[in-house]
Amino acid sequence: METVTYQDPSLSTYDIYEFGNGEGTEVVITAGIHGVEQTAIYVARLFVKYFEDHGANGKVKIIPVCNQAAYFNRTRTSPYDQLDLNRIFPGDANGTQSMQLAHSIWQDTRGADYIIDLHCCGQHGSTYVMSLYSQFEHQSALVKLLGFPDVVHSGGARGQLFLEACEAGQQALLVELKGGQPDGMIDFDAADKCFKQLLNFFKYTGNIATTDIDKIVKAHPVRFHERMTTLKAEHHGLFVPYVNAGVHYEHGTILGKLNNENITAPFDCYIAAINYPRYCFSGERMVRIAKTKD
Ligand SMILES: [Zn+2]
Repeated sequence: METVTYQDPSLSTYDIYEFGNGEGTEVVITAGIHGVEQTAIYVARLFVKYFEDHGANGKVKIIPVCNQAAYFNRTRTSPYDQLDLNRIFPGDANGTQSMQLAHSIWQDTRGADYIIDLHCCGQHGSTYVMSLYSQFEHQSALVKLLGFPDVVHSGGARGQLFLEACEAGQQALLVELKGGQPDGMIDFDAADKCFKQLLNFFKYTGNIATTDIDKIVKAHPVRFHERMTTLKAEHHGLFVPYVNAGVHYEHGTILGKLNNENITAPFDCYIAAINYPRYCFSGERMVRIAKTKD
């Protein structure tokens, strides 16, 4: 038997970059669980470069592209079995390709004190953190520490790496960034802000080896929001957005129009994502919002 490799890399591998002497806090950064989410992958690779240049204290593990098959297919799900990797953790060593991948990543993240899982919420999205702050007390402390300005409560779908890790007693968060869907766009501005914010976090965890870190980080007060609400078109029509993603608006603000009807904010909210102008079909998403907590 002869194996012919006609193109590297294999789609059933992933690279783990490991830094530090292993003594101290262990932080794991994962990205590319959804293969098309390239702003996330870009940020993870910025950290690979950063720790290659500066070294690390404790232990830092970075997996920039968890799902190679989905990455090369520029899709959210795997072309092998159409599974969404972020719905099947902790996976199954005897399952399909994606189930085995989930199992392997699950094993590789068991030692982490913190897991930061990077994702993207689309070209018309914004940056926010998904958290289980109402369920686990440590989550509130963690998101304040992380310092991303906007935190949205997770919808609680099982099988997500961060959620299952929390259930298993670890501290884990999911960061959503602008970009990714539908064809892998990288938003450099979102990536840069995320990189700096996470540097701030690494300063707290003690993984940063350099002393001039104060020059490149800043802290933000954190605003908490409830679970995501999706405003969908009730009929076919021309959707025109009036507001921007990543901004807060008051109850009653006109967020856009569907034909000549106003789409108004049903409560004080954060705009997580808002579609570009387009003909929207009945039942399609126009805006994703999260209610601001008092
Ligand atoms: Zn994702």
